[in-house]
Amino acid sequence: MREEEETIKTITAEPGVKGAPRATGVYIMYDAEGTVIYVGKANDLKARMQQYFRLGGDGRRSVPFLIEKVRKIEYRITGNEARAFFLEDKLIKEYKPHYNVLRKDDKSYPSLELTVLEPFPRLVAAHRHLKKGSRYFGPFVVGVSAAELLRRYRDRFQLRRCTVSQLKKGKPCLYAQIGRCCAPCSGSVTPEEYAEKLEKITASLRRYERVQIKLEPEASETGEKQ
Ligand code: SF4
Repeated sequence: MREEEETIKTITAEPGVKGAPRATGVYIMYDAEGTVIYVGKANDLKARMQQYFRLGGDGRRSVPFLIEKVRKIEYRITGNEARAFFLEDKLIKEYKPHYNVLRKDDKSYPSLELTVLEPFPRLVAAHRHLKKGSRYFGPFVVGVSAAELLRRYRDRFQLRRCTVSQLKKGKPCLYAQIGRCCAPCSGSVTPEEYAEKLEKITASLRRYERVQIKLEPEASETGEKQ
């Protein structure tokens, strides 16, 4: 791992598209005090910066605030997606950047949705219980967050992450390589085996919901804040 890290090329540049390499890797954004405020990864770092720095950012609400604060960007060229994934993970754990934490703890997505009308359903964050036929869990507002539950169940049960059209292409992606998807796209899991996973997840999430119902009145009576 140490050797691998040493082969990663680092480029430092001003905020903006200029200086961003056409390469796969990780970008680290610093503020005026030299604090790491955001870490991300991209297949094409230059294209990613174009999304950030074009007018209005990439659509995420926090991006204009983030861009306003960035004073320096460091690019680490990993050469492939898997190394970028692990490096990003490691740097986020190390620096706990403010804007990564904001995205992770996004309380505007308090529920989870199981897309049961799709083949090999996905578990995703949900704002409201809107789609007919989908199965919803939550809202989780007491104790463990929806974001934490999503991470926990999706990784542990290696659920599908891609769109249905990607699934139909039959080509396993990076998530299969790093053991975070059981790759139903390649036929390595049967619909029955996958359904067993979903049953376990459903039972477990329903237990979390009951905890919410039990604790919520108590929490609001004592004025406890999440
Ligand atoms: S491994 Fe296959 S099923 Fe899993 S996310 Fe990737 S493309 Fe989709």
